[in-house]
This record gives sequence, structure tokens and C-alpha cells, in this order.
Amino acid sequence: MVNIGFVRRILNQSQMMLFFITLCVTVVILAHMYLQSHNRPKPLSDTVIFKKTSVLAMEHISSAPERLKDLIAKSAPKKNRSALPLCPEQPSHLVGKMNIKPTVTLEEVTKENNLKNISFGGRYSPQNCNGRERTAIIIPYRDRKEHLEICVRHLHAVLQRQELEYGIYVVEMALPTQFNRGLLANAGVRTVREIYDYTCFIIHDVDMLMTDDRNLYRCGNQPVHFLTLSTKHGNNSISYADYYGAVVGFTSEQYQKCNGFSNLYFGWGGEDDDLGIRVQSAGMKFIRPKKEIGMYVALLHDGDVSNQRNPNRYVLLSQAKSRWMEEGVETVQFQRLALEYRKLYTWILIRVKEESIVRRYQQYLEDMTSRVPTILLSNVLPIEIVVAFSVNLLFTYVMMDIEQLY
Ligand code: UDP
Ligand code: MN
Repeated sequence: MVNIGFVRRILNQSQMMLFFITLCVTVVILAHMYLQSHNRPKPLSDTVIFKKTSVLAMEHISSAPERLKDLIAKSAPKKNRSALPLCPEQPSHLVGKMNIKPTVTLEEVTKENNLKNISFGGRYSPQNCNGRERTAIIIPYRDRKEHLEICVRHLHAVLQRQELEYGIYVVEMALPTQFNRGLLANAGVRTVREIYDYTCFIIHDVDMLMTDDRNLYRCGNQPVHFLTLSTKHGNNSISYADYYGAVVGFTSEQYQKCNGFSNLYFGWGGEDDDLGIRVQSAGMKFIRPKKEIGMYVALLHDGDVSNQRNPNRYVLLSQAKSRWMEEGVETVQFQRLALEYRKLYTWILIRVKEESIVRRYQQYLEDMTSRVPTILLSNVLPIEIVVAFSVNLLFTYVMMDIEQLY
């Protein structure tokens, strides 16, 4: 990347020395800045920081309902399935493009809604026909109550027009563990599978709203990435071709085939790219809807205290191909603290022992300090290296000129 011969031709020996000394200083400063900003807090000492971060009605945790079967009967929509015809291939009440803005309010989203026919736990089944799909929406969640209220109402409105049989499941990770989106998705699928025989599992970010109801939340013969564009990514394309974030859908078999998400991504970033590698490694390929209908509005938010950028993500990604069969939905370990059927969704609270996961997969999650060179190389952008190099060259030239003046 750096052409040393070129530098040698234009600089003499003492200038070379000066050049390399300043280059080293810049690299050390960059490294220091990187480690300062990316060092995530240690899980157990974070209690103070997390004090302000509420979980959804933590006070409601009265029991630990490990025996789901006792609760299942309560939430199932009552209907004689066999007596009804299949819903039409093309739902007839779709409205197409909807006018939604990232600043949409709860009042606005409540207006368009018919919440009457929703069964407890956020489940719905069309009145006059059998849905072509039984879709479970799984929302990995922590501390985004405002978004959750909007997202869930929007989903109910859209999914009813799509004539699906569906249920909405909000899966929350208890504090103080760093957020882990992939693990929550796996825990969600494992739990939801026990509740009902869903045919399609959609992992859905809480801050993404579809803007066209022709984007049907059904599964396909390949896993589906429902998002082709979003207000976050600009108007013309998603960030990169292999981006599989925000909203993805799998049949039970597809999810099992790629072993779901990795459980090892604590903090922000990487788990969606890892999923892309898993899907490909399992011999499948994500499909997407047409650009016109796969547009999402991204609700605005700041970074999260308990979801720091994961400094391990590039190292983990580099091992994804060799690791995917070993850990995923089949090996996910969690404790279910609560399961509540609320009016508009089912709330599942889980607890995870990050330390025991780290211990179990130690070979993948070694102490960060031994990884510093790899992490530095994979995290400092080429542009930062080019800028450091150019600044040094300029600096050396200026020094050279000053030298020649005397
Ligand atoms: N999330 C959450 N609380 C957090 C962090 C993440 O609920 O503290 C969930 C939420 O569903 C969110 C998703 O994880 O939409 C992805 O995280 P985030 O929005 O931070 O990622 P982005 O794609 O915006 O960078
Ligand atoms: Mn987001």
C-alpha cells in the first residue's frame, strides 16, 4: 500500500528518519484514539452506567415461566382453521406506498390502526380465510420504548392488510450484559417455536418501518432480506451489496440450515455480516424485493450505552466460515426471566451469562490485548492511513524547506 521506494527517491537519509519517526508517532496516536473510543466497558462494572437504562416494566417480573405450554393456550386465536379457504395470493386491501417520515409520531401511527381483532400477546389471524403464512415477527429489543410503540402499531396495520396469520415477539436482554442482537434472534426463534407452529420467522429491527405494504412478510424458497433501501442508507442503494441487516426472514428449515445467527457478537456491529456468510456457507442465497417496494423509514436514534461498537467484530467475522456450524441457534444458552402476553405483543425477557459464553468460546474471543495489531489493522480505515502518510510527507517537506533556508 505504501511505496517506500518512492519516498526514498525524494528524501535523503536524515529526512527519512524524520519521516518515519513522525509516521510512528501518528500511528501510535491513532492506535490510542482507536482503543480509547472502542474499548467497551467490562460487563460487570457497568451497573452504574446502566442505572438510567430502563427495561420494559421490569417490575412485572413475577415468575419465571419456563413451562411455556401452560401459557400457550391463553394466547392462541380461536378459530376453526379447516373450515376456511386459503387467503388470496394477492391480498386485496393493500394500499401500496405509504407516506411515512422518520419523524412519525405515535399519534400518527395509531390513527391508521385497527387494533380490535388482535389476540392477547399480539397475535392475529384473518377472520374469513386462512393466512398463507404464519409469520412470527421477532424484535431484538432494549430501551427503545418510543420506537417499539410505533413499530408494533405500524406492523399490526400492515400485516393485517397483508392477510397473514402472525404474532409479534419482543425479545429483550436483561442488563447489564452488552446488547447482542444475534443471540436475541436465536433465543426468540427457540422460544417462539415452542409457542406455535409458525412457518416464517422474521427478525425485525425496532426502528425500521416498511413504507410499502406490497413488501409481503412471507418467506420464500430462499432466506429474504426485506430491505432494499432505507432513509438511513440514502436513496439509491443500501450501504453495500452484502448488507443483510435490519429485517430478514427465514423458514424454520432455512434458519436451522445456517444455524441462525452467531451468539458471540456482544455490542454493536458484525452479526448481520456474519449471517450473510452463514447463509452462503449453508448453500443458500438471500433474495430481496424490488427496489420500489423494499424501502424502509429508519427512526432516528443516538448510539446506545449498552451497545458499544464491538471491537471483536472483524476478528469474529474473519472466522465466521469455520465457526458457523459450531455455534448458533442450536447452541444458544439463555435463561428466560419473563414471558408476558401483552396487548400488542408477547414480551420475552432473557438473561445471558456473557462470561460463560466467552469462556466456552475462548479460542474465538481471546483477550483483546493479544489482538491489538490485528484489530488495529482491520479497524483503521485505509483513508486514515493515507491521510497519516500524506500529512507526514508534507511535514517532512516543510522541514526540508526550512533546513534549506539556513
Ligand atoms: N437494539 C435495541 N436497543 C439497543 C440496541 C439495539 O433495541 O440498545 C435493537 C433494535 O431493534 C435496533 C437493532 O437492535 O433496531 C439494531 O441496533 P441499532 O439500531 O443500534 O443499529 P443500527 O442499524 O441503527 O446501526
Ligand atoms: Mn437503528
